[in-house]
Amino acid sequence: ASPAPSNFLRQIIEHDLNAGTYASRRWSGHPADAATQQAGQPDPAKIRTRFPPEPNGYLHVGHAKSICLNFGLARDYGGVCHLRFDDTNPEKEEQEYVDSISDAVQWLGFDWNATHNGVNVEHRYYASNYFDFMYRAAEYLIETGKAYVDEQTPEQMRANRGDFTTPGKDSPFRSRTPAENLARFREMRDGKLSDGAAVLRAKIDMASPNINLRDPAIYRIKHAEHHNTGNTWCIYPMYTFAHPIEDALENITHSICTLEFEDQRPFYDWLLDRLREGGLINSPQPRQYEFARLNLTYVITSKRKLAQLVNEQHVTGWDDPRMPTIVGLRRRGYTPESIQLFAERIGVTKDYSWIDYGTLDGCLREDLDPKAARAMSVLDPVKLVITNWDEVMGAGALDQCAAPVHLHHPERGQRQFKFGKELWIERTDYEETPPKGFFRLFPGNKVRLKYGHVIECKGAVKDAAGNVTEVHAELIPDTKSGTPGADAIKVKGVITWVGVNDGIAAEVRLYDRLFTDPQPDAGGKDFLASLNPDSLKTVAAYVEPSLASAKPDEKFQFERHGYFVADRKDHGAGKPVFNRISGLKDSWNK
Ligand code: ATP
Ligand code: MG
Ligand code: MG
Repeated sequence: ASPAPSNFLRQIIEHDLNAGTYASRRWSGHPADAATQQAGQPDPAKIRTRFPPEPNGYLHVGHAKSICLNFGLARDYGGVCHLRFDDTNPEKEEQEYVDSISDAVQWLGFDWNATHNGVNVEHRYYASNYFDFMYRAAEYLIETGKAYVDEQTPEQMRANRGDFTTPGKDSPFRSRTPAENLARFREMRDGKLSDGAAVLRAKIDMASPNINLRDPAIYRIKHAEHHNTGNTWCIYPMYTFAHPIEDALENITHSICTLEFEDQRPFYDWLLDRLREGGLINSPQPRQYEFARLNLTYVITSKRKLAQLVNEQHVTGWDDPRMPTIVGLRRRGYTPESIQLFAERIGVTKDYSWIDYGTLDGCLREDLDPKAARAMSVLDPVKLVITNWDEVMGAGALDQCAAPVHLHHPERGQRQFKFGKELWIERTDYEETPPKGFFRLFPGNKVRLKYGHVIECKGAVKDAAGNVTEVHAELIPDTKSGTPGADAIKVKGVITWVGVNDGIAAEVRLYDRLFTDPQPDAGGKDFLASLNPDSLKTVAAYVEPSLASAKPDEKFQFERHGYFVADRKDHGAGKPVFNRISGLKDSWNK
Protein backbone atom coordinates (compact mmCIF):
# COMPACT_ATOMS: atom_id res chain seq x y z
CA ALA A 1 0.00 0.00 0.00
CA SER A 2 1.94 3.01 -1.21
CA PRO A 3 0.63 6.50 -1.94
CA ALA A 4 2.42 6.73 -5.29
CA PRO A 5 0.52 5.76 -8.41
CA SER A 6 1.14 2.21 -9.50
CA ASN A 7 3.26 1.34 -12.53
CA PHE A 8 4.66 -1.79 -14.11
CA LEU A 9 7.70 -1.81 -11.82
CA ARG A 10 5.58 -1.54 -8.69
CA GLN A 11 3.43 -4.38 -9.95
CA ILE A 12 6.49 -6.57 -10.50
CA ILE A 13 7.85 -5.79 -7.04
CA GLU A 14 4.49 -6.38 -5.36
CA HIS A 15 4.22 -9.67 -7.17
CA ASP A 16 7.72 -10.71 -6.03
CA LEU A 17 7.02 -9.72 -2.46
CA ASN A 18 3.74 -11.66 -2.41
CA ALA A 19 5.29 -14.68 -4.09
CA GLY A 20 8.29 -14.65 -1.74
CA THR A 21 10.67 -14.63 -4.70
CA TYR A 22 13.58 -13.51 -2.55
CA ALA A 23 12.68 -15.36 0.64
CA SER A 24 15.18 -18.12 -0.05
CA ARG A 25 17.99 -15.73 -0.82
CA ARG A 26 21.36 -16.31 0.79
CA TRP A 27 24.01 -13.65 1.19
CA SER A 28 26.96 -13.70 -1.08
CA GLY A 29 29.66 -13.29 1.53
CA HIS A 30 31.33 -10.91 -0.85
CA PRO A 31 32.87 -7.74 0.61
CA ALA A 32 29.94 -5.81 -0.79
CA ASP A 33 27.77 -7.64 1.67
CA ALA A 34 30.13 -8.04 4.58
CA ALA A 35 28.74 -5.09 6.45
CA THR A 36 25.22 -6.39 6.08
CA GLN A 37 26.25 -9.77 7.33
CA GLN A 38 28.03 -8.26 10.26
CA ALA A 39 24.80 -6.57 11.16
CA GLY A 40 23.25 -9.97 11.55
CA GLN A 41 21.71 -10.30 8.10
CA PRO A 42 18.72 -8.19 7.19
CA ASP A 43 15.50 -9.74 6.07
CA PRO A 44 16.61 -11.49 2.88
CA ALA A 45 13.13 -11.11 1.45
CA LYS A 46 13.61 -7.37 1.11
CA ILE A 47 13.97 -5.85 -2.31
CA ARG A 48 17.23 -4.21 -3.32
CA THR A 49 17.64 -1.68 -6.08
CA ARG A 50 20.64 0.38 -7.08
CA PHE A 51 21.55 3.63 -8.75
CA PRO A 52 24.76 2.93 -10.69
CA PRO A 53 26.29 6.13 -12.12
CA GLU A 54 29.60 6.23 -13.86
CA PRO A 55 31.60 8.88 -11.96
CA ASN A 56 32.55 10.70 -15.14
CA GLY A 57 30.40 13.81 -14.99
CA TYR A 58 27.73 15.75 -13.19
CA LEU A 59 24.29 14.22 -12.84
CA HIS A 60 21.35 15.73 -14.67
CA VAL A 61 17.59 15.74 -14.45
CA GLY A 62 17.40 12.32 -16.18
CA HIS A 63 19.58 10.82 -13.47
CA ALA A 64 17.36 12.53 -10.92
CA LYS A 65 14.46 10.54 -12.32
CA SER A 66 16.45 7.34 -11.94
CA ILE A 67 17.52 8.24 -8.38
CA CYS A 68 13.95 9.03 -7.34
CA LEU A 69 12.78 5.82 -8.96
CA ASN A 70 15.33 3.45 -7.43
CA PHE A 71 15.58 5.02 -3.99
CA GLY A 72 11.84 5.67 -3.98
CA LEU A 73 10.96 2.04 -4.68
CA ALA A 74 13.31 0.83 -1.94
CA ARG A 75 11.79 3.31 0.51
CA ASP A 76 8.21 2.48 -0.40
CA TYR A 77 8.69 -1.28 -0.16
CA GLY A 78 10.91 -1.38 2.92
CA GLY A 79 13.97 -2.32 0.89
CA VAL A 80 17.41 -0.90 0.35
CA CYS A 81 18.88 1.08 -2.52
CA HIS A 82 22.61 1.01 -3.17
CA LEU A 83 24.57 3.91 -4.54
CA ARG A 84 27.11 2.18 -6.74
CA PHE A 85 29.85 3.90 -8.65
CA ASP A 86 30.25 2.04 -11.88
CA ASP A 87 33.93 2.86 -12.10
CA THR A 88 35.12 0.06 -14.34
CA ASN A 89 36.45 2.42 -17.00
CA PRO A 90 39.93 3.54 -15.93
CA GLU A 91 40.32 6.69 -17.93
CA LYS A 92 37.38 8.94 -17.30
CA GLU A 93 36.60 8.75 -13.64
CA GLU A 94 37.42 11.19 -10.91
CA GLN A 95 36.92 11.74 -7.20
CA GLU A 96 35.31 15.11 -7.91
CA TYR A 97 32.43 13.30 -9.59
CA VAL A 98 32.14 10.72 -6.83
CA ASP A 99 31.68 13.58 -4.38
CA SER A 100 29.26 15.56 -6.50
CA ILE A 101 27.14 12.46 -7.20
CA SER A 102 26.99 11.60 -3.51
CA ASP A 103 25.95 15.18 -2.75
CA ALA A 104 23.26 15.08 -5.41
CA VAL A 105 21.71 11.89 -4.03
CA GLN A 106 21.64 13.27 -0.50
CA TRP A 107 20.35 16.63 -1.58
CA LEU A 108 17.49 14.95 -3.43
CA GLY A 109 16.52 13.50 -0.07
CA PHE A 110 17.84 9.96 -0.29
CA ASP A 111 20.21 7.97 1.82
CA TRP A 112 22.37 4.92 1.12
CA ASN A 113 22.70 4.22 4.79
CA ALA A 114 20.32 1.65 6.22
CA THR A 115 19.99 0.21 9.67
CA HIS A 116 19.97 -3.56 9.97
CA ASN A 117 19.37 -4.96 13.45
CA GLY A 118 20.44 -1.68 14.94
CA VAL A 119 23.71 -1.54 12.99
CA ASN A 120 24.22 1.19 10.44
CA VAL A 121 25.33 -0.10 7.05
CA GLU A 122 26.59 2.22 4.36
CA HIS A 123 25.33 0.86 1.05
CA ARG A 124 27.70 2.84 -1.11
CA TYR A 125 29.86 0.67 -3.30
CA TYR A 126 32.50 0.83 -6.01
CA ALA A 127 32.38 -1.61 -8.90
CA SER A 128 36.17 -1.52 -9.10
CA ASN A 129 36.27 -3.33 -5.74
CA TYR A 130 34.95 -6.36 -7.59
CA PHE A 131 37.75 -6.60 -10.17
CA ASP A 132 39.21 -9.70 -8.50
CA PHE A 133 35.88 -11.46 -8.61
CA MET A 134 35.26 -10.38 -12.20
CA TYR A 135 38.61 -11.77 -13.20
CA ARG A 136 37.82 -15.10 -11.54
CA ALA A 137 34.42 -15.15 -13.27
CA ALA A 138 36.19 -14.62 -16.60
CA GLU A 139 38.58 -17.51 -15.94
CA TYR A 140 35.61 -19.66 -14.97
CA LEU A 141 33.98 -18.94 -18.33
CA ILE A 142 37.22 -19.80 -20.11
CA GLU A 143 37.62 -23.06 -18.18
CA THR A 144 34.09 -24.12 -19.04
CA GLY A 145 34.53 -23.31 -22.73
CA LYS A 146 32.31 -20.26 -22.56
CA ALA A 147 34.90 -17.62 -23.40
CA TYR A 148 37.88 -17.25 -25.69
CA VAL A 149 40.66 -14.80 -26.46
CA ASP A 150 40.12 -13.26 -29.86
CA GLU A 151 43.05 -11.69 -31.66
CA GLN A 152 41.34 -10.51 -34.79
CA THR A 153 41.82 -6.84 -35.53
CA PRO A 154 38.95 -4.60 -34.46
CA GLU A 155 38.07 -4.19 -38.18
CA GLN A 156 37.92 -7.93 -38.73
CA MET A 157 35.83 -8.33 -35.64
CA ARG A 158 33.39 -5.71 -36.80
CA ALA A 159 33.16 -7.20 -40.28
CA ASN A 160 32.59 -10.69 -38.91
CA ARG A 161 29.88 -9.59 -36.50
CA GLY A 162 27.35 -9.37 -39.35
CA ASP A 163 24.26 -7.17 -39.08
CA PHE A 164 20.51 -7.40 -38.70
CA THR A 165 20.11 -9.33 -41.95
CA THR A 166 23.41 -11.25 -42.04
CA PRO A 167 24.57 -13.74 -39.43
CA GLY A 168 28.08 -13.28 -38.09
CA LYS A 169 31.13 -15.42 -38.95
CA ASP A 170 33.13 -17.36 -36.42
CA SER A 171 36.51 -15.96 -35.54
CA PRO A 172 39.45 -18.20 -36.43
CA PHE A 173 40.39 -17.98 -32.73
CA ARG A 174 37.00 -19.32 -31.61
CA SER A 175 38.13 -22.94 -31.56
CA ARG A 176 41.05 -22.46 -29.18
CA THR A 177 41.04 -24.89 -26.27
CA PRO A 178 40.29 -23.72 -22.75
CA ALA A 179 43.93 -24.29 -21.80
CA GLU A 180 45.19 -22.12 -24.68
CA ASN A 181 42.66 -19.42 -23.85
CA LEU A 182 43.55 -19.45 -20.18
CA ALA A 183 47.24 -19.06 -20.92
CA ARG A 184 46.62 -16.25 -23.38
CA PHE A 185 44.19 -14.46 -21.03
CA ARG A 186 46.80 -14.57 -18.27
CA GLU A 187 49.29 -13.03 -20.68
CA MET A 188 46.78 -10.28 -21.28
CA ARG A 189 46.49 -9.79 -17.53
CA ASP A 190 50.27 -9.81 -17.10
CA GLY A 191 50.78 -6.99 -19.55
CA LYS A 192 52.31 -9.05 -22.36
CA LEU A 193 49.93 -7.66 -24.99
CA SER A 194 49.32 -4.09 -26.05
CA ASP A 195 46.03 -2.20 -26.04
CA GLY A 196 43.65 -3.57 -28.66
CA ALA A 197 45.80 -6.63 -29.47
CA ALA A 198 43.20 -9.05 -28.07
CA VAL A 199 39.88 -9.18 -26.28
CA LEU A 200 38.19 -11.85 -24.25
CA ARG A 201 34.84 -12.75 -25.77
CA ALA A 202 31.96 -14.76 -24.42
CA LYS A 203 31.32 -17.78 -26.63
CA ILE A 204 27.60 -17.77 -27.35
CA ASP A 205 26.24 -17.73 -30.89
CA MET A 206 27.57 -15.82 -33.90
CA ALA A 207 24.29 -16.40 -35.71
CA SER A 208 22.03 -15.09 -32.96
CA PRO A 209 19.36 -12.66 -34.20
CA ASN A 210 20.34 -10.55 -31.18
CA ILE A 211 23.68 -9.02 -32.16
CA ASN A 212 24.51 -8.57 -28.48
CA LEU A 213 24.74 -12.35 -28.20
CA ARG A 214 27.24 -12.70 -31.07
CA ASP A 215 30.17 -13.38 -28.77
CA PRO A 216 30.30 -10.02 -27.00
CA ALA A 217 33.65 -8.73 -25.76
CA ILE A 218 33.88 -9.01 -21.98
CA TYR A 219 37.47 -7.94 -21.20
CA ARG A 220 39.80 -5.59 -23.02
CA ILE A 221 43.38 -4.49 -22.62
CA LYS A 222 43.93 -0.97 -21.37
CA HIS A 223 47.28 0.02 -19.98
CA ALA A 224 45.85 2.81 -17.89
CA GLU A 225 45.93 3.77 -14.26
CA HIS A 226 42.68 3.44 -12.38
CA HIS A 227 41.64 5.93 -9.68
CA ASN A 228 40.96 3.11 -7.22
CA THR A 229 43.11 0.16 -8.25
CA GLY A 230 46.06 2.13 -9.58
CA ASN A 231 48.25 -0.01 -11.83
CA THR A 232 47.09 -3.38 -10.52
CA TRP A 233 45.25 -4.11 -13.73
CA CYS A 234 45.93 -3.57 -17.39
CA ILE A 235 42.79 -5.42 -18.45
CA TYR A 236 39.35 -4.09 -17.60
CA PRO A 237 35.90 -5.68 -17.81
CA MET A 238 33.40 -4.34 -20.33
CA TYR A 239 30.27 -2.72 -18.95
CA THR A 240 27.99 -5.50 -20.18
CA PHE A 241 30.05 -8.07 -18.27
CA ALA A 242 30.68 -5.99 -15.17
CA HIS A 243 27.20 -4.72 -14.54
CA PRO A 244 25.34 -8.03 -14.00
CA ILE A 245 28.16 -9.19 -11.73
CA GLU A 246 27.97 -6.00 -9.66
CA ASP A 247 24.25 -6.53 -9.28
CA ALA A 248 24.67 -10.17 -8.30
CA LEU A 249 27.41 -9.53 -5.72
CA GLU A 250 25.33 -6.85 -4.08
CA ASN A 251 22.25 -9.07 -4.02
CA ILE A 252 20.29 -6.61 -6.11
CA THR A 253 16.80 -7.94 -6.76
CA HIS A 254 15.46 -5.47 -9.34
CA SER A 255 18.07 -3.97 -11.62
CA ILE A 256 16.28 -1.08 -13.27
CA CYS A 257 17.76 0.61 -16.32
CA THR A 258 16.75 2.56 -19.38
CA LEU A 259 15.33 0.95 -22.51
CA GLU A 260 18.57 1.16 -24.50
CA PHE A 261 19.68 -1.85 -22.46
CA GLU A 262 16.71 -4.02 -23.37
CA ASP A 263 18.74 -5.90 -26.01
CA GLN A 264 21.44 -6.51 -23.42
CA ARG A 265 19.07 -8.36 -21.10
CA PRO A 266 19.59 -11.78 -22.77
CA PHE A 267 23.33 -11.47 -22.14
CA TYR A 268 22.70 -10.28 -18.57
CA ASP A 269 20.70 -13.45 -17.95
CA TRP A 270 23.11 -15.69 -19.90
CA LEU A 271 26.06 -14.54 -17.84
CA LEU A 272 24.35 -14.83 -14.47
CA ASP A 273 22.95 -18.26 -15.39
CA ARG A 274 26.49 -19.48 -16.14
CA LEU A 275 27.93 -18.00 -12.94
CA ARG A 276 25.09 -19.47 -10.86
CA GLU A 277 25.63 -22.91 -12.42
CA GLY A 278 29.28 -22.58 -11.40
CA GLY A 279 28.32 -21.68 -7.85
CA LEU A 280 29.94 -18.26 -8.17
CA ILE A 281 26.77 -16.35 -7.40
CA ASN A 282 23.63 -17.05 -5.42
CA SER A 283 20.14 -17.74 -6.47
CA PRO A 284 17.69 -16.20 -7.10
CA GLN A 285 19.74 -13.95 -9.29
CA PRO A 286 18.96 -10.29 -10.06
CA ARG A 287 16.59 -9.44 -12.91
CA GLN A 288 16.87 -6.48 -15.24
CA TYR A 289 13.85 -4.27 -16.02
CA GLU A 290 13.80 -1.38 -18.44
CA PHE A 291 11.92 1.91 -18.54
CA ALA A 292 11.91 4.82 -20.98
CA ARG A 293 14.51 7.48 -20.26
CA LEU A 294 13.40 11.00 -19.51
CA ASN A 295 13.26 13.41 -22.42
CA LEU A 296 12.42 16.92 -21.34
CA THR A 297 11.56 19.67 -23.81
CA TYR A 298 14.09 22.51 -24.21
CA VAL A 299 16.67 20.41 -22.40
CA ILE A 300 19.62 18.31 -23.49
CA THR A 301 20.94 15.58 -21.23
CA SER A 302 23.92 14.22 -23.11
CA LYS A 303 26.97 14.54 -20.86
CA ARG A 304 29.18 15.29 -23.84
CA LYS A 305 26.97 18.14 -25.04
CA LEU A 306 26.55 19.55 -21.55
CA ALA A 307 30.35 19.54 -21.22
CA GLN A 308 30.55 21.42 -24.51
CA LEU A 309 28.21 24.12 -23.16
CA VAL A 310 30.50 24.52 -20.16
CA ASN A 311 33.81 24.32 -22.02
CA GLU A 312 32.77 26.77 -24.73
CA GLN A 313 31.39 29.07 -22.04
CA HIS A 314 27.85 29.22 -23.31
CA VAL A 315 27.03 28.93 -19.60
CA THR A 316 29.06 29.89 -16.55
CA GLY A 317 29.70 26.34 -15.32
CA TRP A 318 28.12 23.02 -14.42
CA ASP A 319 26.03 24.79 -11.80
CA ASP A 320 24.83 27.58 -14.07
CA PRO A 321 21.15 28.00 -13.16
CA ARG A 322 20.19 27.27 -16.78
CA MET A 323 21.88 23.87 -16.77
CA PRO A 324 19.74 20.73 -16.34
CA THR A 325 22.38 19.31 -14.01
CA ILE A 326 21.33 18.66 -10.45
CA VAL A 327 23.77 21.34 -9.25
CA GLY A 328 22.27 23.71 -11.83
CA LEU A 329 18.68 22.95 -10.87
CA ARG A 330 19.61 23.40 -7.23
CA ARG A 331 21.22 26.75 -7.83
CA ARG A 332 18.28 27.85 -9.95
CA GLY A 333 16.10 27.23 -6.89
CA TYR A 334 14.36 23.95 -7.67
CA THR A 335 13.70 22.08 -4.44
CA PRO A 336 14.31 18.37 -3.83
CA GLU A 337 10.60 18.04 -3.10
CA SER A 338 9.66 19.56 -6.46
CA ILE A 339 11.99 17.15 -8.29
CA GLN A 340 10.64 14.17 -6.38
CA LEU A 341 7.11 15.27 -7.18
CA PHE A 342 8.09 15.64 -10.82
CA ALA A 343 9.60 12.15 -10.95
CA GLU A 344 6.46 10.71 -9.41
CA ARG A 345 4.13 12.64 -11.66
CA ILE A 346 5.81 11.69 -14.95
CA GLY A 347 5.89 8.09 -13.77
CA VAL A 348 7.64 5.20 -15.49
CA THR A 349 6.59 3.67 -18.76
CA LYS A 350 8.12 1.68 -21.55
CA ASP A 351 7.18 4.24 -24.20
CA TYR A 352 9.43 7.03 -25.40
CA SER A 353 7.86 10.42 -25.01
CA TRP A 354 8.77 14.04 -24.39
CA ILE A 355 7.77 15.59 -21.10
CA ASP A 356 6.89 19.25 -21.27
CA TYR A 357 9.29 21.42 -19.29
CA GLY A 358 6.23 23.17 -17.83
CA THR A 359 5.53 20.02 -15.84
CA LEU A 360 8.69 20.59 -13.81
CA ASP A 361 7.79 24.24 -13.22
CA GLY A 362 4.30 23.18 -12.18
CA CYS A 363 5.80 20.88 -9.55
CA LEU A 364 8.05 23.68 -8.32
CA ARG A 365 5.07 26.01 -7.87
CA GLU A 366 3.08 23.32 -6.20
CA ASP A 367 5.87 22.79 -3.71
CA LEU A 368 6.69 26.45 -3.08
CA ASP A 369 3.24 28.01 -3.12
CA PRO A 370 2.33 26.80 0.38
CA LYS A 371 5.84 27.41 1.74
CA ALA A 372 7.55 30.44 0.24
CA ALA A 373 7.40 33.77 2.04
CA ARG A 374 5.91 36.55 -0.05
CA ALA A 375 7.72 39.76 -0.86
CA MET A 376 7.31 42.74 -3.13
CA SER A 377 9.92 43.62 -5.71
CA VAL A 378 10.22 46.03 -8.60
CA LEU A 379 12.24 44.56 -11.42
CA ASP A 380 12.14 47.39 -13.94
CA PRO A 381 11.96 50.40 -11.69
CA VAL A 382 10.79 53.94 -12.35
CA LYS A 383 10.17 56.46 -9.62
CA LEU A 384 6.66 57.38 -8.54
CA VAL A 385 6.31 60.72 -6.75
CA ILE A 386 3.26 61.46 -4.60
CA THR A 387 2.95 65.16 -5.33
CA ASN A 388 0.49 65.97 -2.54
CA TRP A 389 2.36 63.93 0.09
CA ASP A 390 3.59 66.91 2.14
CA GLU A 391 0.06 68.36 2.40
CA VAL A 392 -1.87 65.19 3.22
CA MET A 393 0.72 63.17 5.17
CA GLY A 394 3.26 65.80 6.22
CA ALA A 395 6.72 66.57 4.88
CA GLY A 396 9.16 63.70 5.58
CA ALA A 397 6.39 61.48 6.92
CA LEU A 398 6.51 57.71 6.35
CA ASP A 399 3.43 55.52 6.61
CA GLN A 400 3.91 52.06 8.07
CA CYS A 401 2.43 49.22 5.98
CA ALA A 402 2.17 45.52 6.70
CA ALA A 403 1.45 42.41 4.69
CA PRO A 404 1.24 38.76 5.68
CA VAL A 405 4.37 36.66 5.19
CA HIS A 406 1.98 34.02 3.84
CA LEU A 407 -1.74 34.52 3.44
CA HIS A 408 -2.53 31.00 4.62
CA HIS A 409 -0.12 31.02 7.54
CA PRO A 410 -1.05 33.92 9.81
CA GLU A 411 1.26 32.42 12.46
CA ARG A 412 4.22 33.39 10.27
CA GLY A 413 3.47 37.03 11.01
CA GLN A 414 3.69 40.21 9.01
CA ARG A 415 6.25 41.88 6.82
CA GLN A 416 6.73 45.58 7.55
CA PHE A 417 7.64 48.28 5.07
CA LYS A 418 7.10 52.00 4.65
CA PHE A 419 5.10 54.05 2.23
CA GLY A 420 6.60 57.48 1.61
CA LYS A 421 6.60 60.34 -0.85
CA GLU A 422 8.75 58.42 -3.34
CA LEU A 423 8.22 54.84 -4.37
CA TRP A 424 9.61 52.47 -6.98
CA ILE A 425 7.06 51.03 -9.37
CA GLU A 426 7.33 48.89 -12.49
CA ARG A 427 8.04 50.98 -15.59
CA THR A 428 5.43 48.91 -17.41
CA ASP A 429 2.76 50.05 -14.94
CA TYR A 430 2.60 53.47 -16.55
CA GLU A 431 1.24 54.24 -20.02
CA GLU A 432 0.72 57.73 -21.32
CA THR A 433 -1.90 56.45 -23.75
CA PRO A 434 -3.33 53.27 -22.27
CA PRO A 435 -4.04 50.37 -24.58
CA LYS A 436 -7.50 48.82 -24.34
CA GLY A 437 -7.94 46.88 -21.10
CA PHE A 438 -5.04 48.62 -19.33
CA PHE A 439 -6.13 49.41 -15.76
CA ARG A 440 -2.91 50.59 -14.22
CA LEU A 441 -1.37 54.07 -14.23
CA PHE A 442 -2.30 56.58 -16.91
CA PRO A 443 -3.24 60.22 -16.49
CA GLY A 444 -6.54 60.51 -14.64
CA ASN A 445 -6.73 56.83 -13.56
CA LYS A 446 -6.90 55.61 -9.99
CA VAL A 447 -5.14 52.48 -8.75
CA ARG A 448 -4.33 50.96 -5.41
CA LEU A 449 -0.74 50.57 -4.30
CA LYS A 450 -0.90 47.11 -2.79
CA TYR A 451 -1.19 47.17 1.04
CA GLY A 452 -1.17 51.00 0.77
CA HIS A 453 -3.36 53.81 -0.47
CA VAL A 454 -5.33 54.59 -3.60
CA ILE A 455 -3.61 57.14 -5.82
CA GLU A 456 -4.65 59.07 -8.90
CA CYS A 457 -2.17 59.41 -11.72
CA LYS A 458 -1.35 62.92 -12.83
CA GLY A 459 1.16 62.25 -15.62
CA ALA A 460 4.89 61.81 -15.97
CA VAL A 461 8.16 63.66 -16.43
CA LYS A 462 10.27 62.66 -19.42
CA ASP A 463 13.84 63.22 -20.46
CA ALA A 464 14.97 64.72 -23.74
CA ALA A 465 14.75 61.32 -25.41
CA GLY A 466 11.16 60.90 -24.33
CA ASN A 467 11.79 58.29 -21.66
CA VAL A 468 9.69 58.51 -18.54
CA THR A 469 11.88 59.48 -15.57
CA GLU A 470 9.18 60.00 -12.95
CA VAL A 471 5.51 59.23 -12.70
CA HIS A 472 3.42 61.66 -10.73
CA ALA A 473 0.30 60.90 -8.71
CA GLU A 474 -1.78 62.24 -5.84
CA LEU A 475 -2.68 60.21 -2.82
CA ILE A 476 -6.36 59.98 -1.96
CA PRO A 477 -6.58 60.31 1.82
CA ASP A 478 -8.32 57.72 4.02
CA THR A 479 -8.11 54.89 1.47
CA LYS A 480 -5.43 52.78 3.12
CA SER A 481 -5.82 49.00 2.86
CA GLY A 482 -7.30 47.50 5.97
CA THR A 483 -8.92 50.75 7.14
CA PRO A 484 -12.68 51.43 7.05
CA GLY A 485 -12.32 53.84 4.12
CA ALA A 486 -10.39 51.37 1.97
CA ASP A 487 -13.34 50.39 -0.17
CA ALA A 488 -14.82 53.87 -0.57
CA ILE A 489 -13.19 54.20 -3.96
CA LYS A 490 -13.38 51.26 -6.38
CA VAL A 491 -10.34 50.72 -8.54
CA LYS A 492 -9.63 48.13 -11.23
CA GLY A 493 -5.86 48.09 -10.87
CA VAL A 494 -3.62 47.13 -7.97
CA ILE A 495 0.12 47.62 -8.40
CA THR A 496 3.12 46.45 -6.46
CA TRP A 497 5.83 48.83 -5.27
CA VAL A 498 8.83 49.25 -3.02
CA GLY A 499 9.61 52.37 -0.97
CA VAL A 500 12.53 54.52 -2.09
CA ASN A 501 13.16 55.10 1.61
CA ASP A 502 13.51 51.49 2.70
CA GLY A 503 13.77 49.45 -0.50
CA ILE A 504 16.93 47.40 -1.05
CA ALA A 505 18.81 47.47 -4.33
CA ALA A 506 19.29 43.92 -5.61
CA GLU A 507 20.58 42.14 -8.67
CA VAL A 508 17.87 39.98 -10.13
CA ARG A 509 18.71 37.31 -12.69
CA LEU A 510 15.82 36.49 -14.98
CA TYR A 511 16.45 33.06 -16.39
CA ASP A 512 14.63 31.63 -19.32
CA ARG A 513 15.01 28.40 -21.26
CA LEU A 514 18.49 27.79 -22.62
CA PHE A 515 17.22 26.72 -26.05
CA THR A 516 14.49 28.04 -28.28
CA ASP A 517 13.92 24.66 -29.91
CA PRO A 518 11.82 22.26 -27.83
CA GLN A 519 13.97 19.34 -28.99
CA PRO A 520 17.37 21.03 -29.32
CA ASP A 521 19.42 17.95 -30.24
CA ALA A 522 16.84 15.56 -31.65
CA GLY A 523 17.76 13.84 -34.91
CA GLY A 524 21.35 15.06 -34.85
CA LYS A 525 20.40 18.76 -34.92
CA ASP A 526 23.07 21.33 -34.04
CA PHE A 527 21.91 22.29 -30.56
CA LEU A 528 24.12 25.37 -30.46
CA ALA A 529 22.08 26.85 -33.30
CA SER A 530 19.04 27.14 -31.05
CA LEU A 531 20.74 28.65 -28.00
CA ASN A 532 18.38 31.27 -26.62
CA PRO A 533 20.16 34.65 -26.69
CA ASP A 534 17.80 35.88 -23.97
CA SER A 535 18.23 32.98 -21.55
CA LEU A 536 19.62 35.38 -18.95
CA LYS A 537 18.65 38.97 -18.33
CA THR A 538 20.22 40.65 -15.35
CA VAL A 539 18.26 43.59 -13.96
CA ALA A 540 18.87 46.13 -11.22
CA ALA A 541 15.81 45.82 -9.04
CA TYR A 542 14.48 46.97 -5.71
CA VAL A 543 13.08 44.61 -3.14
CA GLU A 544 11.20 45.18 0.08
CA PRO A 545 13.17 45.49 3.35
CA SER A 546 12.06 42.09 4.71
CA LEU A 547 14.48 40.55 2.21
CA ALA A 548 17.47 42.09 4.00
CA SER A 549 17.67 38.89 6.05
CA ALA A 550 17.32 36.49 3.09
CA LYS A 551 19.81 33.65 3.34
CA PRO A 552 21.52 32.05 0.34
CA ASP A 553 19.20 29.36 -1.08
CA GLU A 554 16.10 30.81 0.60
CA LYS A 555 13.09 30.87 -1.68
CA PHE A 556 10.39 33.52 -2.04
CA GLN A 557 7.38 34.36 -4.05
CA PHE A 558 7.87 37.85 -5.41
CA GLU A 559 4.29 39.01 -5.69
CA ARG A 560 3.15 39.04 -9.31
CA HIS A 561 6.61 38.05 -10.63
CA GLY A 562 7.01 34.44 -9.63
CA TYR A 563 9.34 32.35 -7.52
CA PHE A 564 12.85 33.52 -6.72
CA VAL A 565 15.78 32.20 -4.76
CA ALA A 566 18.69 34.00 -3.13
CA ASP A 567 21.63 32.75 -5.20
CA ARG A 568 23.57 30.17 -3.22
CA LYS A 569 26.93 31.38 -4.54
CA ASP A 570 26.66 35.10 -5.12
CA HIS A 571 24.02 36.33 -2.67
CA GLY A 572 25.26 38.09 0.44
CA ALA A 573 23.97 40.60 2.96
CA GLY A 574 25.77 43.48 1.25
CA LYS A 575 25.02 42.24 -2.26
CA PRO A 576 21.60 40.67 -2.66
CA VAL A 577 21.25 38.46 -5.75
CA PHE A 578 18.02 36.69 -6.60
CA ASN A 579 17.42 34.13 -9.36
CA ARG A 580 14.05 33.69 -10.94
CA ILE A 581 13.11 30.03 -10.65
CA SER A 582 9.82 30.23 -12.51
CA GLY A 583 7.00 32.63 -13.19
CA LEU A 584 3.56 32.48 -11.60
CA LYS A 585 1.10 30.26 -13.37
CA ASP A 586 -1.34 33.05 -14.21
CA SER A 587 1.08 35.89 -14.32
CA TRP A 588 -1.30 38.84 -14.53
CA ASN A 589 1.12 41.47 -15.78
CA LYS A 590 1.68 39.77 -19.11
P1 ATP B 1 26.72 8.68 -20.49
O1 ATP B 1 26.11 9.88 -21.16
O2 ATP B 1 28.14 8.88 -20.07
O3 ATP B 1 26.43 7.38 -21.15
P2 ATP B 1 24.64 8.04 -18.64
O4 ATP B 1 23.63 9.09 -18.86
O5 ATP B 1 24.38 6.68 -19.14
O6 ATP B 1 26.01 8.60 -19.10
P3 ATP B 1 25.30 6.90 -16.11
O7 ATP B 1 26.16 7.52 -15.09
O8 ATP B 1 25.74 5.66 -16.75
O9 ATP B 1 25.02 8.04 -17.13
O10 ATP B 1 23.82 6.75 -15.60
C1 ATP B 1 23.45 6.32 -14.32
C2 ATP B 1 22.01 5.89 -14.36
O11 ATP B 1 21.15 6.96 -14.72
C3 ATP B 1 21.79 4.78 -15.36
O12 ATP B 1 21.12 3.71 -14.70
C4 ATP B 1 20.91 5.38 -16.42
O13 ATP B 1 19.99 4.45 -16.89
C5 ATP B 1 20.22 6.52 -15.69
N1 ATP B 1 19.89 7.60 -16.61
C6 ATP B 1 20.74 8.31 -17.35
N2 ATP B 1 20.08 9.19 -18.12
C7 ATP B 1 18.77 9.03 -17.87
C8 ATP B 1 17.56 9.65 -18.35
N3 ATP B 1 17.58 10.63 -19.27
N4 ATP B 1 16.38 9.23 -17.85
C9 ATP B 1 16.35 8.27 -16.92
N5 ATP B 1 17.43 7.65 -16.42
C10 ATP B 1 18.64 8.01 -16.89
MG1 MG C 1 26.36 5.14 -18.89
MG1 MG D 1 24.39 6.61 -21.39
